[in-house]
Amino acid sequence: MGKIKKIGVLTSGGDAPGMNAAIRGVTRTAIYNGLEVIGIRHGFQGLINANFKPLRSFSVSDIIQRGGTILKTARCEEFKTPEGRLKAYNNLKEEQIDGVVVIGGDGSFTGARIFNEEFDIPFVGVPGTIDNDIYGTDYTIGYDTALNTVVEAVDKIRDTASAHNRMFFVEVMGAEAGFLALFGGIATGAEAIIIPEIKGEARNLKKMIETGNTRKKSSNIIIVAEGDEEGGAFGIAEKVKDDFKDYDIRVTVLGHLQRGGSPSAIDRVNASRLGNAAVEALIDDQKSVMVGLSNGEITLVPFRKAVKLHKDVNHSIVELARILSV
Ligand code: ATP
Repeated sequence: MGKIKKIGVLTSGGDAPGMNAAIRGVTRTAIYNGLEVIGIRHGFQGLINANFKPLRSFSVSDIIQRGGTILKTARCEEFKTPEGRLKAYNNLKEEQIDGVVVIGGDGSFTGARIFNEEFDIPFVGVPGTIDNDIYGTDYTIGYDTALNTVVEAVDKIRDTASAHNRMFFVEVMGAEAGFLALFGGIATGAEAIIIPEIKGEARNLKKMIETGNTRKKSSNIIIVAEGDEEGGAFGIAEKVKDDFKDYDIRVTVLGHLQRGGSPSAIDRVNASRLGNAAVEALIDDQKSVMVGLSNGEITLVPFRKAVKLHKDVNHSIVELARILSV
């Protein structure tokens, strides 16, 4: 204990609302524990370019409510090379940084894990992605805000869909995972939800929709996860259009608006907890681990597991979606 005097913090990969709250949680916890904090700008690229700036308590004032990330984020090919990582190490040594908090997704944790196999400066991860697709944690920063954005958008689409008797295919983000689509679909009363975890669902669409139509529904909303095997909302709409000749079919891709906005209260609180836990983990000499939330409690998960193992959707929730759409 007590070896760490100065830590770095960076955000990497896709941005997510709540990352700023995590940066604040990291910074203030470090200062509380007598540590210095260096903000590393533009993710791993900032490690390679020594793009460092000291963070004080006031540096993170007035950011908890802001989307995006004050440290900027990036994808960095150079960090995938041994030469790039050596540059990063040398810069960290030069700056006398004893540990780094990486806020990002599984790609970022893969990079952090490889770095920790090669070098002795500990990295600890904080799960930040709207996709909620990281094994070992029930929650990732930004997911709750993005989910609420999906719900707000789909509610609006429902109004216009009902007015015109339309069938809407709404594509939501989620990378290879269907968490946003599944929960967004349940929360908006979608008639059908198509996610990568459940194969062949597009083929059942006609049956699902016809069941609903015996009740004379005035609109149909089908939520499609971007990572679905059938090719997203446009792909599915094209495939099934002959089954629904009587409908006016429309496709909406929600896109990057799902990444923006002021973080929800849940995202602010959880990001603060995770940022705090990451610094405590570094103080406790942890390395190559992610801090997560499991049943409301902080957990430590080795990067090795977090990146290798697959987080599945809860199949009882999938079943719930089916039951509620009869
Ligand atoms: P999101 O889930 O939002 O996409 P992510 O962290 O998974 O976030 P990636 O683009 O996959 O985003 O990864 C971010 C960065 O992590 C990469 O640009 C790269 O710098 C680093 N990284 C990813 N994979 C590796 C690897 N195999 N070796 C070294 N670094 C890596």
